[in-house]
Amino acid sequence: MDKFHKAKSLTEDNKVKYKGLIGSSLYFSVLSNSEHQVLFRIANHRWMCDCEWAALHKKDCSHILAAKQWLKMNESESIKTNEVQ
Ligand SMILES: [Zn+2]
Repeated sequence: MDKFHKAKSLTEDNKVKYKGLIGSSLYFSVLSNSEHQVLFRIANHRWMCDCEWAALHKKDCSHILAAKQWLKMNESESIKTNEVQ
């Protein structure tokens, strides 16, 4: 399975949890084989993940892709609501 399909199944299986807006970053927890912390820095539009693959390749891993998909699907509801609170 390539990372795009993996990301899609992570999103569809509801493995992406949005933890909230902390400072100027969106925090996610993605449950793959183990749990990974993904964050999106709004200021420079940078995605980061704590997994080895991301550190090694300096590219979007499946966890980041999954969080991106999640964001695309939930942007209007969750994010804006959280910002107001
Ligand atoms: Zn990752």
